[in-house]
Amino acid sequence: MALTEIQDEIAKAEAAAGRPAGAVTLIAVSKVQPNDRVAHILDQGHRVFGENRVQEAAGKWPDFRQRFDGIDLHLIGPVQTNKARQAFELFQAIHSLDRPKLAATFARLAQEIGHCPDLFIQINTGEEPQKAGVLPGEADAFIKECLNMDLPVRGLMCIPPVSEEASLHFALLAKIAARNGLTGLSMGMSSDFTRAIALGATHVRVGSAIFGARETVAQ
Ligand SMILES: *Cc1c(COP(=O)(O)O)cnc(C)c1O
Repeated sequence: MALTEIQDEIAKAEAAAGRPAGAVTLIAVSKVQPNDRVAHILDQGHRVFGENRVQEAAGKWPDFRQRFDGIDLHLIGPVQTNKARQAFELFQAIHSLDRPKLAATFARLAQEIGHCPDLFIQINTGEEPQKAGVLPGEADAFIKECLNMDLPVRGLMCIPPVSEEASLHFALLAKIAARNGLTGLSMGMSSDFTRAIALGATHVRVGSAIFGARETVAQ
């Protein structure tokens, strides 16, 4: 689909849910996409992008930043503690805060550097053993712990299990956020972003629907 079609779908889903136009931020997920496809989206004026690996982002976004102003880069994949500093330098938002040790590292870096990217705490709503994220039963305590460290937690993020109805997971994420006073909801991908918007998504992470199928597998 073209970028404009995705934007139209988002606008329709916002209106259908009785939400204001512009309530949802579209994160164009550019991981493993060829640079010419990414440049094509930048040429159309889009500025918000998502990458799931720090290393890959470090290899391509400094060049794009020389050519285009106002790029807003979101890290949507796992962060190793030893890549946290690099992640702080590259990204305006990190959607994958998922453990106390990483929270402590972020807090220390924020002190040292004097700023911190916007943070989303990843919740493993499907309680899948292979997936990152805080378990739903541990979410309230972890959110409090992060807020007590003065981390700029903007909301929660989830990646629903592939084989389950995503809406159930979106609703659970929204419920956990609401009871903790958080307003940001990073949920919804190519196949389900309109359903996520119906359930309150503020950030949708859309890759293949914008760029076409990824030619390499990214985890
Ligand atoms: C790759 C990825 C996406 C985008 O997936 P599509 O199905 O291509 O839209 C969204 N979120 C995360 C965390 C991803 O890794």
